[in-house]
Amino acid sequence: MQLHVLGSAAGGGVPQWNCGCSNCAAAREKRLPHRTQASLAASADGRSWVLFNATTDVRRQIEDDLALAPLGLRDSPIRAVFLTDANVDHCAGLLDFRQAGPLLVFSTGVVRDTLCKDAMFAPFSRAPRTWEAVDDRDVTVAGLRISPIRVPGLMPAFAGGRRIDNAVTAFAIEDGSGAKCVYAPIFLEVNEDLARAAGDADAAFFDGSFWSDDELKTQGLGVRTAREMGHAPIAGQGGSLEALRALKCARKYYTHVNNSNPALDPASGAAADLRDAGIAIAQDGAVLTLGSRARQVSSGA
Ligand SMILES: [Zn+2]
Ligand SMILES: [Zn+2]
Repeated sequence: MQLHVLGSAAGGGVPQWNCGCSNCAAAREKRLPHRTQASLAASADGRSWVLFNATTDVRRQIEDDLALAPLGLRDSPIRAVFLTDANVDHCAGLLDFRQAGPLLVFSTGVVRDTLCKDAMFAPFSRAPRTWEAVDDRDVTVAGLRISPIRVPGLMPAFAGGRRIDNAVTAFAIEDGSGAKCVYAPIFLEVNEDLARAAGDADAAFFDGSFWSDDELKTQGLGVRTAREMGHAPIAGQGGSLEALRALKCARKYYTHVNNSNPALDPASGAAADLRDAGIAIAQDGAVLTLGSRARQVSSGA
């Protein structure tokens, strides 16, 4: 299985257009890497690709990855888009696929119904496209078996912001060689289902939005806590670091990292804690090859 990290930041990216925080300033000054919003591309054969989330950076991400270039006249190797939830930064890039022919879209039923109420998203549920609900079932697309993993989460603010079943899902991605990746860029808690699925994966990507629950408040960047925004913080009681550290998974990454997160600065104590735990922050452009015989990282993260 090939995995391409298309983006590794939370909504807004790094730097965020209206943010003068220290990480955004460092990125503008080229002291930290620029990051686009989190998305992953996976392929069983290197020819057909499946995207996990479509951000408002998707056009640039496709142009930056030669594997995703058109195969011919009006033909793309991108066969399907899986959405973890209905947050704008995870799905608004779907609108950039409006020229697509028979695109397959998958999400939970509640995410599909929420988005398709909007006239701009509705055409993605009509022929020649399909938008299937995958609340409880696996699907096989382009040689990859993709299974939803139930994780607790919130609906986006525009859809009420409530905690409901299937507001958010993670995905397990497996190929015929037995290689397995878990993609979980948003969750309120590492529950048993997620820990079990990630425990025997070759690679796991977890929600690294915020280091601490009150990060935006203490930095004067916002009023809501991480959990009020639907994200488990990395550190502290009930944080994801505890859970991720305990997993046997071979390669552990944080992705969907917000520009406020101190771990983005390699000189920070937070970054040192992640290094000590054997967890990397995913990098835009990173290429991973997972397989039953050869496990390697070609570049980047
Ligand atoms: Zn997001
Ligand atoms: Zn910032």
